[in-house]
Amino acid sequence: MTQAQPTRRTARSLSLPALLAALAVAAGAARADGLDAQEQQIVAHVKRLTPDALTLLERSVLVNSGTLNPAGVREVGRLFGAEFEAIGFKTRWVDMPPAMQRGGHLVAERVGDQGRRVLLIGHLDTVFEKDSPVAPWLSDGRKVRGQGVSDMKGGDVIVLLALKALNEAGALQGRTVRAVFTGDEERVGSPAEVARAALIDAARHSDVALAFEGATKDDQGRDAATIGRRASGGWQLQVTARTGHSAGVFGRDGFGAVYEAARVVNAFREQLIEPDLTFNAATLVAGTSASWDGAQSQGQAFGKTNVIPRDAVVHGDLRYLTAEQGAKARERMQAIVEQALPGTRSKISFHESYPPMAPTPGNLKVLEAYSKASADAGLGAVVPFPPGQRGAGDVQFVAPFVDSLDGLGAAGGGAHTPDEWLEIASIERGAIRAALLIYRLTR
Ligand SMILES: [Zn+2]
Repeated sequence: MTQAQPTRRTARSLSLPALLAALAVAAGAARADGLDAQEQQIVAHVKRLTPDALTLLERSVLVNSGTLNPAGVREVGRLFGAEFEAIGFKTRWVDMPPAMQRGGHLVAERVGDQGRRVLLIGHLDTVFEKDSPVAPWLSDGRKVRGQGVSDMKGGDVIVLLALKALNEAGALQGRTVRAVFTGDEERVGSPAEVARAALIDAARHSDVALAFEGATKDDQGRDAATIGRRASGGWQLQVTARTGHSAGVFGRDGFGAVYEAARVVNAFREQLIEPDLTFNAATLVAGTSASWDGAQSQGQAFGKTNVIPRDAVVHGDLRYLTAEQGAKARERMQAIVEQALPGTRSKISFHESYPPMAPTPGNLKVLEAYSKASADAGLGAVVPFPPGQRGAGDVQFVAPFVDSLDGLGAAGGGAHTPDEWLEIASIERGAIRAALLIYRLTR
């Protein structure tokens, strides 16, 4: 067994032209060679086991597991945990410190000494809390609407269906497969280092990570999976200025905090815009006195038109595709902040909530293997989803350590809205693709 190097790998990301070329290759590359005898058997098992998987999906969706309902999260964890145990996985529950008010995570593993070690990522929680008016489950036989059907209990069930089929075919013998289903993906517990320690630890003992958030299509309607997701974080600008009678503005008393704050955010807009980088300036509070309450997302200001304002506080987010892009953006923002107007002083601070999942050649390779497996099974090629178009997700915590692919879950839409739905046929389709990919990765 090869041990993972327990270091953050330097994510070599592709330049944009290289990436576009690679995408074109990936889109056309999946020549269907068909399946060997054991792979055909695996597919047959998936098809036979799909009705049970749909029952499991319904049972899991009927348990409310809003992130802030730890009892529900644990109950869904027990339900899926028993399914892992039944196919030879050892499971454990990772509790979070009570102060974090999160349900914890399910970890399941089978350890062997052959093939690449695969990490499968799901989440148990949904955005629908206990008091949600959204019906948990409404099926017309083709589509299901309900709480977390596609984000992402459908993906969790795909993981289990694929593993069951592999187990029936004897294909898990001697292989290392870990699954981490987190209990707080929709609102990561704080501090994130504690909330994601188990997931990151599993990644350090894996060679490839596959995440089962909802499947997507690209803008041409082709099935797509995710090789890159933008980091998300934020910044806070704090301006302090000399105050005085408004008659003295622009002169002896300087420009005041409002002009300085405006100068900074306008310079961001003029100088920083580039592909895959965004920095939304979201709130601005300013006056003779101004304060911001982060817990309530609320600010307060006092001031008069005949007084040069002393305080300004601006909050924004910051999203970028690679660590280098983020570092460069922060550096340039810092440099802009340092050119303060006379009579003012600005300070900017940054935080990162989700590290970037850069679209690396390694991630692209995993996608090519996935696309090939899909084509070989007669399900068509899978192309890369345009990096930069997806929101943040758990896979980003492991992407710095292992080659990663996301979007292997169920097809549907309306995630995080009352209209969230799932295409039922995508459970079987997703499980066939995932089972074949896991089978090939672990040979
Ligand atoms: Zn999700």
